[in-house]
Amino acid sequence: MNQVSSAKTFQIDGNTAVTYIKGIGPKRGTALASVGIRTFRDLLYHFPRRYLDRSTITPIIKVRLGMDVTVVGKILSLANVRSRRRPYLQVLIGDDSGQLRCVWFNGASYVQKIFHPGNMVALSGKVEFYKGLQLVHPDYDILESEEYSTLHTARIIPLYPSTAELKKVGLDSRGFRRQFHKIFEQLDFQVTEILPSSLQEMLQLMDITEALQQIHFPANQQLLEGARLRFKFEELFYLQLLLAVKRLGIKSVQKGFHYPGAGEHLKQIYERLPFELTAAQKRVIHEIWDDMKADEMMNRLLQGDVGSGKTVVALLCASIAIANGFQVAVMAPTEILAEQHYRNLIKLGQPAGIKVRLLIGGQPKRERTEILEEIRQGTAELIVGTHALIQEEVEFRNLALVVIDEQHRFGVVQRSQLIAKGLNPDVLVMTATPIPRTLSMTLYGDMDVSVLDELPARKGKTVTRIVNVDQLDRVYEFIRKKVQAGDQVYIVYPLIEESAKMDLQAAIQGYEQLKRRVFPDLHLALLHGGMKTPEREGVMQAFNDGAVGILVSTTVIEVGVDNPNVTVMVIENAERFGLTQIHQLRGRIGRGTKNGICIMVERKRSEASHKRLQIINKTTDGFEISEQDLILRGPGEFYGTRQHGFLKMKIADIVEDRDLVQSARQEAFKLLKGDPHLRRPEHLLVREHLISNYSEYLNFINVL
Ligand code: ADP
Ligand code: MG
Repeated sequence: MNQVSSAKTFQIDGNTAVTYIKGIGPKRGTALASVGIRTFRDLLYHFPRRYLDRSTITPIIKVRLGMDVTVVGKILSLANVRSRRRPYLQVLIGDDSGQLRCVWFNGASYVQKIFHPGNMVALSGKVEFYKGLQLVHPDYDILESEEYSTLHTARIIPLYPSTAELKKVGLDSRGFRRQFHKIFEQLDFQVTEILPSSLQEMLQLMDITEALQQIHFPANQQLLEGARLRFKFEELFYLQLLLAVKRLGIKSVQKGFHYPGAGEHLKQIYERLPFELTAAQKRVIHEIWDDMKADEMMNRLLQGDVGSGKTVVALLCASIAIANGFQVAVMAPTEILAEQHYRNLIKLGQPAGIKVRLLIGGQPKRERTEILEEIRQGTAELIVGTHALIQEEVEFRNLALVVIDEQHRFGVVQRSQLIAKGLNPDVLVMTATPIPRTLSMTLYGDMDVSVLDELPARKGKTVTRIVNVDQLDRVYEFIRKKVQAGDQVYIVYPLIEESAKMDLQAAIQGYEQLKRRVFPDLHLALLHGGMKTPEREGVMQAFNDGAVGILVSTTVIEVGVDNPNVTVMVIENAERFGLTQIHQLRGRIGRGTKNGICIMVERKRSEASHKRLQIINKTTDGFEISEQDLILRGPGEFYGTRQHGFLKMKIADIVEDRDLVQSARQEAFKLLKGDPHLRRPEHLLVREHLISNYSEYLNFINVL
């Protein structure tokens, strides 16, 4: 970018509409827009999904069953085979070493339309066997014959992602290669650098023009890696910059109130606690109180493993707000959890006479009207509830602190609706999900983070076992003995969103079976999210009172539920749970003075699932478990779809590029600290690029 422009050099404005580019008319423009490519820059950032070169191609003669291969060859023949089971298209391809069959059951007519005998193709897939080796529905790319002949030299050929709509206008992988050829052959093209030059130099990143050339037409592997590294950094840097901007923005929002002092409640409650706070709890309370005292809004995440004692931390902070005449709202993701918080907070808050109220969906109208009135008047001081709290009719008198429990279950919108009910209230988000550092840097990168990294000392210890179906009889015998001795038991069934109906059915059937056949002599009860509030309350009450020995439930007990007398937890179909989820479930037992045992029943054993369960077996460190879960399942599984959108980056990978996330974050925050509004001349381009290319990500960020 600092080069002197020669007469031939032609500086391209990245914001130019893509339709101005030679070879792209309105038709292609529309198709490109369907995948979000509107400007010249968007097009240049349409990176290859993978590359083909000599080292990644397997000669057909070396193809073996079970291998993941890419073969390159000539189409020899196409034939529709009418099989008794299912008709299919058979394509025979050949290279210098042999021939291989490829098969399409679906989409055969399209393949037939674009494949012609004599075409050169690259095909990738897993090698299967059916009357010979074959590839079924391989990933395919048609090559130019010129490309094919140069593959045997050191050439690297980019393969581009495409869609049906793009293919219709000739922009399949080959079409993209042709298009990019045209662009890169055009004169000496130059693209404006969008990374601050100081940064680019310091980190020795490839400059944008060269990196674009190399990522589309790599001269060799090393340069390709250099180009990829540059774009990964660029992407992560801008995301972190966005988070930094957001964070600074929140920091500058003034609250509409301030606290002259902590008031009396804090002391009153603290002195009557039935236990001493852990050092971590004390530290975190100070961190939060410091935020509350500040003029700017608090936006803090409190992370603490199951049982680390977040509730009392929240209550002590809430008591400060309440002593100062303000209201506090606590929002929980389920009614069961809200009810539990409600009971706990009444108990803990009693010494200070705090007026706690519960607002959930299924309350009788009379009661509800009364509570709403108390919230409006301000006589209700600490209001616990579910998303019922965000309904329009709920009006607070002076909401100063919003506590949101179990964060990732709420959408951004729900959260901001609650926050909007106060006058820029402080926000404390609590989560028991140990979030891997890399993820939290991105998902919660705009928040201040407090961590409860110390569990209150416990007398009991919990052990974990994996069993299979054959061992169930022994497990049941064990349970019977425990219950007869006065202990209580959870039996948990998975409830996975996609198959919720069937899962619920399975849980109910499991319950019936256990009750009739296995434990006809014991007291069992069923608990699931589909039950009405009073019914559920009744079950929880009976279980907490000890009248019910075995509680069969779906994952509704996952969070928050606290009964110290439970010593055994059986997790059915454990292979279907996420590790973090099991970890949280397991945290529900051994909460008293007795030892606990967590029995994971593995019904469908696969190598992958067994490996995952082994991790749970080996460690109780929530952070390690979540990190492993993230690596094994990927970010998409790890979090809900919303966050997935944010984590689905173009080129960087939050798991693989963990270290890069770290340095991008560091640099982004440093840059913004030095120039909070990106007003310096050398940052103007950065600012513009941030706004025009990354604002959409704001929707995924965890704040207001
Ligand atoms: P979580 O962080 O999972 O929400 P809770 O706040 O529900 O944890 O606390 C779990 C249990 O530990 C509760 O019964 C609570 O009263 C108790 N507890 C909290 N802090 C301490 C402490 N410092 N020492 C002993 N017990 C504690
Ligand atoms: Mg909790």
